[in-house]
Amino acid sequence: MLRRVLIANRGEIAVRVIRACRELGIPSVAVYSEADADAPHVTLADTAVCIGPPPAHESYLNVQAIIAAARTTGADAIHPGYGFLSENADFAQACADAGLIFVGPPGSVIRTMGSKIGAREVMRAAGVPIVPGETPKQQTDGAIANVIQRVGLPALVKASAGGGGRGMRIVRHAREIAAAIDAARSEAIRAFADGTLYVERLIDHPRHLEVQILADQHGAIVHLFERDCSLQRRHQKVVEESPAPRLSPIVRDRLTHAAVAAARAAGYVNAGTIEFILEGDGTKDDAQFYFLEMNTRLQVEHPVTEAVTGIDLVHAQLRIAAGEPLGFTQHDIVQRGHAVECRIYAEDPSNGMLPQSGRILAYREPAGAGIRVDSGVCQGQTISVHYDPMLAKVITFSDSRDAALATAALALEDFTILGLRHNVPFLHALVTHPDVCDARVDTDFIDAHLAELTAPADDELAAAAAAMAAFVAAPLASSPTVGAKKKPDPWQTLGRVDW
Ligand code: ADP
Ligand code: ADP
Ligand code: MG
Repeated sequence: MLRRVLIANRGEIAVRVIRACRELGIPSVAVYSEADADAPHVTLADTAVCIGPPPAHESYLNVQAIIAAARTTGADAIHPGYGFLSENADFAQACADAGLIFVGPPGSVIRTMGSKIGAREVMRAAGVPIVPGETPKQQTDGAIANVIQRVGLPALVKASAGGGGRGMRIVRHAREIAAAIDAARSEAIRAFADGTLYVERLIDHPRHLEVQILADQHGAIVHLFERDCSLQRRHQKVVEESPAPRLSPIVRDRLTHAAVAAARAAGYVNAGTIEFILEGDGTKDDAQFYFLEMNTRLQVEHPVTEAVTGIDLVHAQLRIAAGEPLGFTQHDIVQRGHAVECRIYAEDPSNGMLPQSGRILAYREPAGAGIRVDSGVCQGQTISVHYDPMLAKVITFSDSRDAALATAALALEDFTILGLRHNVPFLHALVTHPDVCDARVDTDFIDAHLAELTAPADDELAAAAAAMAAFVAAPLASSPTVGAKKKPDPWQTLGRVDW
């Protein structure tokens, strides 16, 4: 097994990986920026090393500092989590060069799949259906505009290096072509330092389906079935589930076979995900799906797969990295029950999902049968502007989709986060929406229902909550322990209440 694992990440995924290390008896090393000295992942790890100032490029993206931390702590492996350096081929290579095991696929695979243009070529050659589209021979505006016309409108101009929904623009009318090329290219240069573009047909009201893969170093590849991640905002997932509802078993079978073929064609090792887009009615056996991209890392939404298959994906990642065989075959993997994940973000749904920063004054997670919370924050912690605003994930599991959604709603009701705006009410509106409960959604659903989903909470309820807070705070405000000169700050006094 691995001797000591350094986790090159922060937040909930760092906590998740540290827990897995602990379960397997592997000592863990956390790295952190100066902004994260008090963060849960730092407290939880066996050892922690400060790797630089708050900006990510000086800390969590600082390859030299991370490799030096691995050396000084005696770590023999690095788990990159997701985001940050997880899909950076140079980092995977730098680990290998330093004699460290990178918990993920070889750098060469990350490089090939990191180029969506390159990945499409690999899939085309392997017979995996790709989204109809074309790569311009030259990257001039004129050449790209011609390709858009040939692919036909509506089209999607996409960055080859894209990720996180960035670097893509929809073109519905010919007059939008120039501006779309410009916007996609400049966003891609800013985010990925690579403005290379290609063009896909815009699939009308599609669903996003993806397949989890595990591949060991001995040539075994299995799939762990699919996830449906159609509930998206700005091409970013918000709620994910497994199994995909309203999917013909024949389509599921075709999809998982295509995913295994894709992983094989990519020469894949470790955990990865093949993303597809599904066109039309998934209950029809001949529904068409197309390869979108491969994510060469653990996904944010991996827990829904763990819930329905009973396989711990991080354990599997660590074992595969240590050279162990998978230890199970495709026949051993079954999909049982239904799981739903809601991503909790510090962002303001009533203000364009603007990321929020500030101190978490009160924080309490829901608990109970069928509820799992993966989080990387705690009460009193300051959420900074430097990192992704995702705070936690609530995963619920039950024997039916209806029950998993109902549990999700209850769990969200029991989630207390005070001090900054967050999307819990929005998520609640989403998981209780009749169309979501009916599984009648596609990737445009959230945008089409945004006003309804972000409607401010009932005034009467807010007034009742305020009255309750005032009632609880009143005796504390007159307590002698509160400074006599300064008017007591209700947030401070309420912080002492045992909720
Ligand atoms: P990223 O690397 O940013 O995740 P993807 O290619 O995976 O980019 O696409 C992200 C999302 O954008 C998809 O889940 C889907 O909702 C939307 N999308 C991407 N390509 C298309 C397409 N050709 N037609 C319609 N929607 C698309
Ligand atoms: P996935 O398919 O796994 O959802 P995406 O690229 O859509 O992949 O989403 C990854 C999201 O996680 C992005 O919004 C990214 O900014 C965010 N992210 C990356 N690293 C972290 C982290 N350590 N903690 C929280 N969020 C993160
Ligand atoms: Mg994607």
